[in-house]
Amino acid sequence: MKTYDAIVVGAGHNGLTAAAFLAKAGLDVVCVEKNDYIGGAAVSRNLYKDWWYSNCSYVCSLLRPEIYRSLELHKHGLQVTPYGGSVTFMENGDYYGSYHDEEVAYREMARFSRQDADAYKTYSADTMRQCRFIRDFLLSTAPDPTSLKPKDIRELIRIGGKFMEMGEDRMYDTIRFWTMSVAEYLDEYFETDVIKAAFSGSGIIGTALGIHSPGTAYVLLHHYMGDVDGNVGSWGFARGGMGAVSQSIAGAYQAAGGELRTEAGVDQIIVKNGKTTGVALENGDEIAGRVVVSAMDVKRTFLTCMDKGDLPASFHKRVENFKIRGSSGKVNIALDGMPTFSALPEGSSLYSSDMHFIDSMERMERAYDDWKDGTWSKDPYVDMVIPTVSDPTMAPPGKHFMSCFVQYCPYQIEGRSWTSDEKGAFGKTVIDQIANYSPNFKDLILHAEVRTPQDIEAEIGITEGNIFHGELTMDQLLFNRPVPGYAQYRSPVDGLYMCGSSTHPGGGVMAAPGANAAREILSDLKRPNTVPESFGDD
Ligand SMILES: Cc1cc2nc3c(=O)[nH]c(=O)nc-3n(C[C@H](O)[C@H](O)[C@H](O)COP(=O)(O)OP(=O)(O)OC[C@H]3O[C@@H](n4cnc5c(N)ncnc54)[C@H](O)[C@@H]3O)c2cc1C
Repeated sequence: MKTYDAIVVGAGHNGLTAAAFLAKAGLDVVCVEKNDYIGGAAVSRNLYKDWWYSNCSYVCSLLRPEIYRSLELHKHGLQVTPYGGSVTFMENGDYYGSYHDEEVAYREMARFSRQDADAYKTYSADTMRQCRFIRDFLLSTAPDPTSLKPKDIRELIRIGGKFMEMGEDRMYDTIRFWTMSVAEYLDEYFETDVIKAAFSGSGIIGTALGIHSPGTAYVLLHHYMGDVDGNVGSWGFARGGMGAVSQSIAGAYQAAGGELRTEAGVDQIIVKNGKTTGVALENGDEIAGRVVVSAMDVKRTFLTCMDKGDLPASFHKRVENFKIRGSSGKVNIALDGMPTFSALPEGSSLYSSDMHFIDSMERMERAYDDWKDGTWSKDPYVDMVIPTVSDPTMAPPGKHFMSCFVQYCPYQIEGRSWTSDEKGAFGKTVIDQIANYSPNFKDLILHAEVRTPQDIEAEIGITEGNIFHGELTMDQLLFNRPVPGYAQYRSPVDGLYMCGSSTHPGGGVMAAPGANAAREILSDLKRPNTVPESFGDD
């Protein structure tokens, strides 16, 4: 039987990124994927007739520019176009629009509160400062503070230096920011409820926490720290849907000689004498490899695909305790035409923005109360976009695809599986909420697909369908992600590595975990590093 240098398990964008950098270093790599298509949660699929859609992730910003450039993803078809602003519809018929143009943004905020319009500059500068601090560490391995290795000590000193450079007040602020709730953070700047509601959404997306829960200010940062074409905080659409990201990375991987096998689900990671020797597939085949790199989430890797006896008990326990809770659903809709929104003037640029339908902090928190009660939010926070306004390639001429990301949607209803009636009722909740603001919306619906966390788990294999492969709270970040002592992509088993979103710096279509893992593996194998240096505080 042939022995590969490396077997990568899972052809999501992180698995493909790790595979690409390993193949570029001359390793003989095979990437095995359980589905008959690649991409994991960054995928474009057929929704209905000639409608294509991003069925999980839907907008792009976090993808590290170093990786885009190094793998020459543009040559493999990736094109990301920024889209503009956001809008929050209000129950009183008004709306709050957020615009890229500074003057327009100021005037719109001042319509609600001059104080808030003036405070926005300080808010942006403070939030951007936190972004610049964290961006520097995305494409690097989190140093272990207990290690005495020169590499870890050097990195700790570097981070400490950057922290000190911030100045006294900002050092205090940074620690507060990383641990406080998004509601408290926004209260420090703004007084208008709808403005706070509009900004607070980024603090809860993909998170089983409410706007008043400690740690949600950091989640907001996670959604601001990306960029499109160097514009930090901007979001864009990948032309052809998010599958274009995975397809382009797969193109780079295959161009470097890598092998891709679909319909090759891994049943077991094989361990002999404390070292991995390969994988056993669900169809009974075995593949031998010197190194196995898992892009599956940490629970699926260690609790589902391995024997408990192959792992130290303390490590196994830590993995059991790792928080991966389902809190988000999706409703994907094929539309016969473009919906209109009563509050928006015809031709408003906000038609190509992301749209929200909750206008107060009270309603934001109530949405979370439903999740805690084991059911979907009856007045949900919906992040809705119509990508076909900017990218007509995804639907027939004049038709549209609408993506609704919904917070909150539990993994189980009151502790048991969803029934099809409940799934239908969840979809109806979302459609009704949008229809309150758009008179022609319901008549345009040709097809609607409802996806609960259970559906996401069944399709992509992410535990509880948690979009980040694990909560992004301080206890699960940096050197604690996913498990203290194992945050550098290695595992307790010799030759077994992790490269998915359960590892630093976490979830989102960022490709950083995959790249960071490849760098560590190449270093262990004493091969030349092919992973680019971080652009740092660019
Ligand atoms: C509904 C939803 C909306 C999101 N929206 C956004 C967004 O708009 N923007 C953004 O940046 N991020 C978004 N995210 C988050 C982002 O998509 C994910 O964090 C990211 O794609 C995860 O990538 P990954 O490569 O680490 O893992 P995954 O994409 O989960 O890939 C893991 C791969 O492993 C495969 N696999 C699993 N088990 C096995 C097995 N036993 N054998 C072989 N293969 C296996 C899976 O099929 C999958 O292909 C969203 C996620 C979801 C679910």
